[in-house]
Amino acid sequence: MPFSSLGLSPALLRALSARAYTAPTPIQAAAIPAVLQGRDVLGSAQTGSGKTLAFVLPLLRRLAQAPAPKPRRARALVLAPTRELAAQVGEEFRGLAQHLDTPLKVSVVFGGVSINPQMMGLRGGIDIVVATPGRLLDLVDHNALTLEGVQTLVLDEADRLLDLGFAEELARIQSLLPRQRQNLFFSATLAPAVQTLAQALLRDPLRIDVLPAPQDRADIVQRAIAVDAGRRTQLLRQLILQERWSRVLVFVATKHAAEIVADKLRKADIDAEPFHGELSQGKRTQVLADFKAERIRVVVATDVAARGLDITQLPVVVNYDLPRSTSDYTHRIGRTGRAGESGLALSLVSAGTEAHLCLIEKRQGLQLPREVVPGFEPVETATVTETMGGIKGKRPSKKDKLRAAAARGL
Ligand code: ADP
Ligand code: MG
Repeated sequence: MPFSSLGLSPALLRALSARAYTAPTPIQAAAIPAVLQGRDVLGSAQTGSGKTLAFVLPLLRRLAQAPAPKPRRARALVLAPTRELAAQVGEEFRGLAQHLDTPLKVSVVFGGVSINPQMMGLRGGIDIVVATPGRLLDLVDHNALTLEGVQTLVLDEADRLLDLGFAEELARIQSLLPRQRQNLFFSATLAPAVQTLAQALLRDPLRIDVLPAPQDRADIVQRAIAVDAGRRTQLLRQLILQERWSRVLVFVATKHAAEIVADKLRKADIDAEPFHGELSQGKRTQVLADFKAERIRVVVATDVAARGLDITQLPVVVNYDLPRSTSDYTHRIGRTGRAGESGLALSLVSAGTEAHLCLIEKRQGLQLPREVVPGFEPVETATVTETMGGIKGKRPSKKDKLRAAAARGL
């Protein structure tokens, strides 16, 4: 099916062919006509399958077609859980909006940077606002923006926005929106509980589900290497050098670990930067831009980088620490193998996290053989009572080591 059969405008079709996109992805083919008709959509499709354009294209089409209200005020509100994702989605809107005959104003607002330029940017009205929830509410409180004219609400990474961490902000935003509106919820993961919650917010939604089973994702090779926790950095360094990985995104459990691992890699002559929520926004933006431009080889990140970020030709994702949940696993590994590319997702597992990886495998319907790298054979045994998401392991005692050695017949 070509893009031209979906009801998009000639200007948008020209913009798409300039990008050499030949056909819509399945989620785009299903969602675009429904969004154009004004329907609510609850859409899940795998990471890297083009969910952004599934709402960006039809929204641009509709907004360009209808005259802007006077005074001009936001007609579409797109929420994203992280600042970098808001920026990325905003870029998609802007990049395509510039091809339209009718100019549309797009504002991207998120925290961690000065609010004044954002307030200035909203003066004179706006058509589309892409925002993180907290800063959006700050702007409303400053009377820089009203949400009364919003016709369409988009939740990108909907399950993340609907979970507890955003509950208060989301409830307030909803109370500021008109009751009659179109709602578009997208994510690669929509657990049953989220679906129930979403259904309560949606009006007769079109449910689109183009989610292959994780084990059917041939585009992402998933592997696990067993290694003692204390030797992971050394192993990582060796793998990066031996396998000649051009770029690697390494996930860890804490901000502290991001700093420590990046620091150790740098000391071992590997160009690495941490990426987490306690860095200044300037630094976060810089690290991501440098990584995308291949000026940095390794980024060691917390889950703040797990959702939505589109880094083309990222060949490898490493779970240095295992993710807390299966949905985090899906999103983390989904930073590679995007838009038809292939990628490698490697999880490091040690005695203390073995049970946790088993749980992830079970929920994902996966079975990853535990590989061992010569020189990095694990000797620790599981002496630690593992908690869900508990990644910290206790060092094994002398006795544990002896027992392990005995078990290996030494
Ligand atoms: P998702 O939100 O599903 O994880 P994105 O919307 O970030 O995926 O898109 C992933 C990549 O695919 C982006 O680089 C995007 O530009 C590209 N892309 C989107 N739609 C198409 C298409 N129809 N043809 C080719 N590439 C596409
Ligand atoms: Mg996305």
